[in-house]
Amino acid sequence: MPFRIPRPKGLTSQIIFAMILGLAAGLILNDIGGGGQAQKWLTDGFLLVGGKIFISSLKLLVVPLVFVSLVCGTASLDDITKLGRVGGKTLGLYLLTTAIAISIALVLALLIQPGAGFNLPTDVTFTAKAAPSLVQTIINIFPTNPVWAMANGKMLQIIVFSVLLGMAITLSGEPGKRVLHFFKDFNDVIMKLVMMIMLIAPYGVFCLIARVFADQGISAIAPLAKYFFVVLFALLLHVSCTYFGLLALLGRLNPIQFFKKFKSVPMFAFSTASSGATIPVTLENVEHKLGVKNSIASFTIPLGATINMDGTAIMQGVATIFIAQAYGIALGVDQLLMVIVTATLASIGTAAVPGVGLITLAMVLNQVGLPVEGIGLIIGVDRLLDMARTAVNVTGDAAVTCIVAKTEKSMNMTTFNKPNNLK
Ligand code: ASP
Repeated sequence: MPFRIPRPKGLTSQIIFAMILGLAAGLILNDIGGGGQAQKWLTDGFLLVGGKIFISSLKLLVVPLVFVSLVCGTASLDDITKLGRVGGKTLGLYLLTTAIAISIALVLALLIQPGAGFNLPTDVTFTAKAAPSLVQTIINIFPTNPVWAMANGKMLQIIVFSVLLGMAITLSGEPGKRVLHFFKDFNDVIMKLVMMIMLIAPYGVFCLIARVFADQGISAIAPLAKYFFVVLFALLLHVSCTYFGLLALLGRLNPIQFFKKFKSVPMFAFSTASSGATIPVTLENVEHKLGVKNSIASFTIPLGATINMDGTAIMQGVATIFIAQAYGIALGVDQLLMVIVTATLASIGTAAVPGVGLITLAMVLNQVGLPVEGIGLIIGVDRLLDMARTAVNVTGDAAVTCIVAKTEKSMNMTTFNKPNNLK
């Protein structure tokens, strides 16, 4: 029987309600389930199916949405040189915010010392995968086969192809106009599909959250409480100081208004732990609630979801210091600078799916000569932190998008200032 509960009105309130319900259900299951058959049936049956269907439904939107939206966005740019300027500004801001994020993480971790006096467990191991080289990463951005790129969800390749196609449409005169007309109609249809899938969001969110807490409980946090809360604190500080500060200073935008309109998106990101799967929701919100023009958002949001991971960088900064302290290794200033550089690169290379930030952390640890097995220490709380850092990752994408759009006069301030129109 489908669960019938009195539901609050409006998608945001329904999602909050589903999260609280999921948290409670998960903790109860974890507490009374005792790992028995009934608990297994619920977590690996009902909750797993519900959560997976929701995530798949979001993911199925990503490639068609990014492709169609970005073709429309590029083709409707009044001036192609604007693309270069927008690209430069966006990349610059993405890099800047990531570097600030790691610096905040390092300073806090050095002050609070989450790893001091830590008793190292001996039975945890972690095998790192080799990171691809920088040269290969750059070559990989350019697709040889756009269909392959789409089938394999290679976001940067899809971005390159869509931008080129959009430019060709602009330069093609009448035939280009006809093709653009089709893409614009297609874009409207896909947006409709996004709205349809949003209808199941509260159920999906409930299943995802309940499963995490049924599996983990909150007992995993206890031995790592200091590390856990330093990461959370750094995430919070980054959103409230860096993003809100930059929005106000560079974008001349009211950060409170930004957050009021945007807040349902970090909730999606929190539940799915994937900025990639959240792209449809971010894009829809930024364009229709915050008033950013499609020509900017269709480019900056998928790009940000792929390369801009401030939350991940924060986790990597705190984790590096934590592991160094836990192993009693002191890091010098040059090593700390190296952490800033490599964690920025590592977060760029982190795929927008759950848990990858922990894998690319190996790159950072290798670079400064820390034991990669240290990752085993923090695995226990990583799922929960993954949810929180993904929420920050998507907020960063949207904040930078708003700043770029505002400075490019591509933002509808009436939409931005309208009282919360989230439904
Ligand atoms: N889950 C993160 C994201 O999708 C990546 C990570 O830090 O593992 O944004």
